[in-house]
Amino acid sequence: MSKQENVDVLVIGGGGGAYPGAFRLAGAGYSVVMADPKGVLGGNCLYSGCVPSKTVREMSELISRARKLVGPLDFDFGKIQAHKDEVQEIRFRQHQDEIEESPGVTFYKGTVTLKGPAQAEIATEEGVVEVRARRTIVATGTEVSRAQFPGSEFCITSDDVFSYRPKLTKLPSELVIIGGGYIAFEVATMLGALGTKAHLLIRSDRALRGVDKRLVDSFLSALGGSVDIRFNSPILEVQRAGEGYRALFSEGGQKKELEADYVLEATGRHPVLPRGIEDLGLNLVKGYVQVDEAMQTNVKGVYAAGDVTGRTTYFHAAVRESLVAARNIMSGKPSDYLDVRSIPVSIFTFPPLAYVGITPEVAQGMGMQLLEASYPLKRDVMAQIFEERVGEVRIFVDKSNMRVVGGWVLGEEAPEVINLIALAAQAGLNIRALADFVGQHPVPFEDISYAARTLLRAPA
Ligand code: ADP
Repeated sequence: MSKQENVDVLVIGGGGGAYPGAFRLAGAGYSVVMADPKGVLGGNCLYSGCVPSKTVREMSELISRARKLVGPLDFDFGKIQAHKDEVQEIRFRQHQDEIEESPGVTFYKGTVTLKGPAQAEIATEEGVVEVRARRTIVATGTEVSRAQFPGSEFCITSDDVFSYRPKLTKLPSELVIIGGGYIAFEVATMLGALGTKAHLLIRSDRALRGVDKRLVDSFLSALGGSVDIRFNSPILEVQRAGEGYRALFSEGGQKKELEADYVLEATGRHPVLPRGIEDLGLNLVKGYVQVDEAMQTNVKGVYAAGDVTGRTTYFHAAVRESLVAARNIMSGKPSDYLDVRSIPVSIFTFPPLAYVGITPEVAQGMGMQLLEASYPLKRDVMAQIFEERVGEVRIFVDKSNMRVVGGWVLGEEAPEVINLIALAAQAGLNIRALADFVGQHPVPFEDISYAARTLLRAPA
C-alpha cells in the first residue's frame, strides 16, 4: 500500500549536499522528507570516499613513520580495513542520532523518482511513498565511472578499496592503477607507504589535471620515484594472469605489459540523476545539474547541491552548498551565495598537497599580477621531527593592493595549514594580517606568518 507525504521540502540523497540543509530547514520549522537508498547518511564520502580513504591513509602514515623513525613493524592490512569499517559505523550511528534528534526530518531508505517539480515517489522496501513538496533539493552526487576496454570488467575501483566492508582486505604487493587524478595518486601513495609497489598508467602527459602545473611539478619531484609513473601510457587491455592480472598498455608507441595482484581503474566519476529529472526541463551540462551561486536551478522551486552540480567534488563544498540552498528556501529569495573559488582543496597523498583561490596559472588567465610569499618546509619543526622535509607554504598576493588571493601548501599538514590562507583569501585580508598573526609554535601553521613576514621584509 502506498503512503502519502505532504511536506515543505524534499531532499533527494543523504550525502553532504543533502542532510546539512535538511536539518537546517527542520530546525527552522520546515517539514522535510529526505531519502537515500543506502539507508544511512553521509553519502559516498562516508560510504566509500573521503572518510574511509582518510582512515587508511592515516594508518598508513602512522605505520610508515614508525618504520622509518623507530624500526621494523609488522601490521595486518585486514585490521586497518576493519578499523576503517568501525569508523564508518561510528559515523553512521552518529548520523542516525541526528535524524532521531530532528523530528522535522523523515528519512526513508529508498530511491526517489521525480514525477514533476513538486511531486515524487520513493521506492522503499516497504512500498512506494508518494511525496508532494513545495521545494526540492537534488543532491544525488556522483559515482565511479567505468571505462570501456577489453578486460575492463577485471578491474577494481576505489569502491573496492574503501567502501564499507570492502573487497580488498589483503595488501597487494603490486598494483597497477589506471588514471592520473587525485584518487589514483592517493591510492598509489597510501598503499605505497605500506609496501605496495604502485604503477600509474596515465593516458596523457599531465598528472592531477586542474591543479596548478607548478604545484604538480613540485609534488611529482617530492615523490622521488616512490611511485612508478608512466605518462602517455593509455591502457589497451587487462587480462587474467594466474592469481593476478596483466595490464597491456602502450608507452612511447610500444606495447608494454605489467603484472599485478590487481588493476585499479581510477578514471573519474560521473553525475547520478534521479529518474524523471529529464522531464522537468532542468538545464544539464554533461549530466551535471546547472545552478546559480544561490544553488537555484532554472526550474522554480528546484535547487541542487553537492557533486551533482559539477561545481566541485568536495564534501565541505557540498555541505556549504546544502546550507546555501536551505537558507535561500527559507528566505524565499536568493540571499546566500557560494563563491567556489574560496574553497580550499586538499589531495591526501604522501606528501599531501592543498591549494585555494588564485594561483599563478589562474592569475595569468586573469591578467592579475601576483606577489609570492613562501617558506620551505625543510625549515619547519614538525617536518624535521618526522623527517618529511619536502614542500613549501606559498601565499599569493594581489600586487595592486597586497590582499591575499590564494595559496598552496605541499607537505606536512598541508590540508590543515591551507585553511588559514583560505580564510584570509575569503575575507580579503591584507598580507600584513598574516605577517602579524601569532600562529601556534611548533606546528606548520606558523610557516604562514614566516612566509608573510619574508615577503614584507623584501617586497618585490
Ligand atoms: P554529495 O556530497 O554531493 O551529497 P554524494 O555522492 O556523497 O554527494 O551523495 C549522494 C547520495 O545520493 C548517495 O548516497 C546516493 O545513494 C544518493 N542518491 C543517488 N540517487 C538517488 C535517488 N534517486 N534517490 C535518493 N538518493 C539518491
